[in-house]
Amino acid sequence: MAGIAIAIDGPSGSGKSSVAREVAQHLALAYLDTGAMYRAATVWALRSGVSLGDTGRVAHLVRTMPLRICLDPAAPGWWLAGDDIAQVIRDPAVSAAVSQLATNLDARPLLIEAQRGIVATERVGGWSRGRGVVAEGRDITTVVAPDAEVRILVVASEAARLARRAVQLHGRTDPHAVAATRASVVDRDAADSTVAEFMTAADGVTVLDNTDLTLDQTVRAVLDLVEERAR
Ligand code: C5P
Repeated sequence: MAGIAIAIDGPSGSGKSSVAREVAQHLALAYLDTGAMYRAATVWALRSGVSLGDTGRVAHLVRTMPLRICLDPAAPGWWLAGDDIAQVIRDPAVSAAVSQLATNLDARPLLIEAQRGIVATERVGGWSRGRGVVAEGRDITTVVAPDAEVRILVVASEAARLARRAVQLHGRTDPHAVAATRASVVDRDAADSTVAEFMTAADGVTVLDNTDLTLDQTVRAVLDLVEERAR
């Protein structure tokens, strides 16, 4: 029996990463943050001194990238050639550059293939010993794992998403902080939307609007959906 796959997509600031991680922890499943893989690839390209505009060379770097990932939702981790990059992948410079890598159509299929491999492995016996995986990103419900048992698109109003990111990045939600956050939410989503559809749910994908929900309430709603599907 193959383990379960739970696919969660959503725009920046929707809270999908926190939700996916909590759900994975709750159900003792592996946790795959696909955005972190795009971020790691961006760090690898930047460190190699290759221009992100050089799509062919960047794709070659991604193909040979020595990335190790820990899928434990209690302690997710990422290492590049043995170097712990958990902090650096969240740097504003990486957030500002990652869309250029994610929209590189030579590199993107390589990461998608790697993500499909991880999902397949977790369903039959990887880190989670075959219990399954919660994978989150922008194209998990549609491209990486369209056959997942549970597929959810987490959405929230733009104002709510901007306010959440402003708190994460600046610790406050005054107009100045929100304006400073716009590029890392609205502009990044606009660039990312050119290669993945994550504002509108595909057929069979459940929309979960968490504009007025807490993290705990959103997690509960996802767990209810999983239980419903398991019946
Ligand atoms: O989720 P997070 O903000 O960490 O994702 C970082 C970036 O990775 C996104 O802005 C997007 O460019 C890319 N991404 C993607 N497809 C995914 C996950 C992330 O293109 N499935």
